[in-house]
Amino acid sequence: MVTACVLPVTEANTIQGHWATTPAKVSLHVGDFDPSEVNAIQAGGASWNTFFQASKSFNMFDMGPPGGGNISSNAQSTPTCGSGTLADGTVLYKRFSNWTHNAAAIAVTTTCFTPNNNGGLATIFNAIMEFNYVNFYVASAGRFPDMQSIAVHELGHLLGLDHTCGPLGRPNQAKPFTACPDVNADPNNPVIATVMFPQVFFDPSGAGEVKQILTADDQGRANCAYTPGN
Ligand SMILES: [Zn+2]
Repeated sequence: MVTACVLPVTEANTIQGHWATTPAKVSLHVGDFDPSEVNAIQAGGASWNTFFQASKSFNMFDMGPPGGGNISSNAQSTPTCGSGTLADGTVLYKRFSNWTHNAAAIAVTTTCFTPNNNGGLATIFNAIMEFNYVNFYVASAGRFPDMQSIAVHELGHLLGLDHTCGPLGRPNQAKPFTACPDVNADPNNPVIATVMFPQVFFDPSGAGEVKQILTADDQGRANCAYTPGN
């Protein structure tokens, strides 16, 4: 396990911010997620919590009671940037219609930041996480992402990480300097194995790849977001 802040020069600008207080509460919009999805999302949160407990002695996320999660009736189309952190924290939503982001995005986490005028990291104080049930997951779409893999990736965004490489970084936010490796030309490039790699592959049946384990790159960058002084 990596316990130091490790930020490769090619991944400069990929730490977007951090939460001022941890654990950051994560809630599920009421009625959206079935029990297997709840378990998968909680397992994604547990990956980060296990890592942060070992590296920094705190839980990154409050994922709520096992098997149920924290439940929220908040109805947000965008994160609540005009107030302090909501009691329900970050709410996860399924979108079955009105997908307002890139159709190629399986899920999108959108955060509210307070800039740090002293050059340090911005402070994240609210967010929402949206899952694209228009273009994925449903039979008509024919592509079925692995929920735990998607959750661990999106929770990486939620804690403050951008992608390991571009150009699929999210709009209006920092992007890595480096283009993503060509997976055909360079299949052993370690960036491809990171949970924060911005592309998900599907097999011919439409099943999404399973990538649930934090790599050294994910760990090293996550440490940077929560290193005192950053
Ligand atoms: Zn992403």
